[in-house]
Amino acid sequence: MASLATLDLRKLILALTLLGALVPFANTFYASYEVQRQQLMDNTLESNYAYANKLASSTDEFIRSAQLQLSYTAQLLVGHMGDARRLGEEATRLRLMSRSFNSITIFDDTGKVLATSPETLKLQGRMLDSDAVRATLRTRQPLISQPFLSVSGNFIVLMAWPVTTPEGEFLGAIGGAIYLQRENFLDHLLGQHFYQDGSYLYVVDGNKQIIYHPDSARVGVVVLDNAAINEVAGGHSGRALVVNSKGVDMLAGYAPVPATGWGIIAQRPREATLAPLTSLMRTVLHKTLPLALATLLVLWWSARHISRPLRLLAEGARAMDRPGTAHRIQSVRSWYFESHELKKALVLGIGLLQKSIAKLREDVGTDPLTRLGNRRQLQATLQALEAAATPFAVVSLDIDHFKTVNDGHGHDAGDRVLQQLAAHMRAVARTGDVPCRVGGEEFLMVLPATTASGAAQLAERLRRQVAAVDTPPVGRITVSLGVAAWPADGTAVADVLKQADERLYAAKRAGRNRVVLEVPVTS
Ligand code: GH3
Ligand code: MG
Ligand code: MG
Repeated sequence: MASLATLDLRKLILALTLLGALVPFANTFYASYEVQRQQLMDNTLESNYAYANKLASSTDEFIRSAQLQLSYTAQLLVGHMGDARRLGEEATRLRLMSRSFNSITIFDDTGKVLATSPETLKLQGRMLDSDAVRATLRTRQPLISQPFLSVSGNFIVLMAWPVTTPEGEFLGAIGGAIYLQRENFLDHLLGQHFYQDGSYLYVVDGNKQIIYHPDSARVGVVVLDNAAINEVAGGHSGRALVVNSKGVDMLAGYAPVPATGWGIIAQRPREATLAPLTSLMRTVLHKTLPLALATLLVLWWSARHISRPLRLLAEGARAMDRPGTAHRIQSVRSWYFESHELKKALVLGIGLLQKSIAKLREDVGTDPLTRLGNRRQLQATLQALEAAATPFAVVSLDIDHFKTVNDGHGHDAGDRVLQQLAAHMRAVARTGDVPCRVGGEEFLMVLPATTASGAAQLAERLRRQVAAVDTPPVGRITVSLGVAAWPADGTAVADVLKQADERLYAAKRAGRNRVVLEVPVTS
C-alpha cells in the first residue's frame, strides 16, 4: 500500500479521465470499423447479386432465342431430310448467323448423322449414341443436355430440336453444340466482365458441374460443397460468403437461368472488397485525432488545475510547524468548495497551533504563581545581554521576615503577598526591564543599559512603594534589596549576581527594609 501513497490526485484524475475518454474513442473507432466493413461487404454482395441476376436473364434470353433459331431451322428441314447438300447449307447458315453454337449436327430418326457444320467434323453417316441424342430420339421433344463428351471428343452441351412434319411424323432432329472448353457464346456474354482485382464469374449446370469458368481447367468439375452452387442449383438466387477452390474467401451473388437450370455465380475476393477499409479508417483517425488530442490536453490541464490547490494544501499540512507555512497556505487559490473548506480549516489549525506553541514557549519561561520570568528566562535574558555586550544592572530582593507571614496568616496568604510584590515590581519596571522570581520569596530584576546608581534609584523606589502600602490580609511588609552592575562589578555574570546577593544580605544585616549598593568595608 505504501507505493499507492505516491499516486497523487492529479495522476488519479488524469488516469480516470483518460480511461473515460479512450474507451469511448476506441469503441467508436471499432464500431465505425465494423460498420464500414459490413457496408463494403454488403455493397459487394449486393452488386454481385444484381450482376448475376442480370447475366442470368441475358443468358436465359440468349438460350431461348437460340432455341427459336433451332426450331425455325427444323421447320425448314421438313421435306429436305434426304438432300444432304441442302442440309449442309442450312446447318452452316444457322451456325454462322446465330453465333450461338460451335457446331450444328442434323441426324435422322435412328441417330445417323445426315449433315454437320463445320464439315471438318467428318461425322456424316456415323451413328450418334450419346445419352442426349438417344433422349431426343425417344422423347422427340426439344432438349438441352447435360455436359458430355461428344463423339468428336469435345466436352459439349447439346441443344436439340425435333424435325417433325406438320402431320406429326418424326424425321430426326437438329442439334446445336456448345463447346464448353472452347470459345463459345458464354464467352461473348460473360467473358468481358472480368475485373482486375480477382473478381470473376462462372456457370454451373443443374448437377453442380461447372460448365463455364475463366480457368478452363475447372470446366467439367462437379462442386458439392459450395453454398452458392448448392443454392443456385436448387433454383434460388441470393448472396453468400464462400471459399473458392483455392481457399480464397469470396463474396458471391448468384442467380439461376430458368431455361436451362444453370446457375451464374459472380464473385469478388473479400480482401479486394475490404482493401479501401484501411484508408477509410485512416481518414476516420485523421478526422478524430486532432479533437481527441485537444481533449487530452484539456483533460491534462484540468487535472492539474483541480489537483493543484489540494496538492499545495497537502504540502502545507506536511510543514505546518515551519515558519511561513501560514502565509503559503493563505496564498493557495482554493477555487472550489472542498479546497476552500480545507484551506480554511488548515489556516485555522495553523493559527491555533502557532498560538499554543507561543503559549508553551511563554509558559516555559514564566513562573505560574506571579507570572514573572523564572530562572530559565533569567538565564536567557542574561545570556542575550552578555552576547550583545549590553551593560546591565541587577536588583536582588527578598521579603523581610516572610516566615512570620506564613506562620501568622497561612501559606495561601503568603502566596498572595508574593503576587502583590510581583505587581509592585512590574509597576516600577521600565520597558525592557525583566523582573524574575528566582526562588521561594527571592526575586531579581534585570535592568538592561542601566548603571548601578540608576538601578539603586529604581530599587529604592520599589522599597518605598512596598513599604508604603498595606498588603492585605497581612498588612505592612518590607523588602531588602542588593544592587550590582555588569561589567562594573565583575566580568563574569555569575559574579555580578553573587555580588547583588551579598549586598542583599548586607541589607538584611544592616536592619532590613533598605537598598545596599556597596558593602561597607567595616562590616
Ligand atoms: P529574612 O527577613 O531574614 O528574610 O526572614 P525570613 O523569614 O523571610 O527568612 P527567609 O528569607 O529565609 O524566608 C524563607 C521563608 O519563606 C520560608 C518559607 O516559609 C517562606 N517561603 C518560601 N517560599 C514560599 C512560597 O512559595 N510561598 C510562601 N507562602 N512562603 C514561602
Ligand atoms: Mg529568603
Ligand atoms: Mg526573607
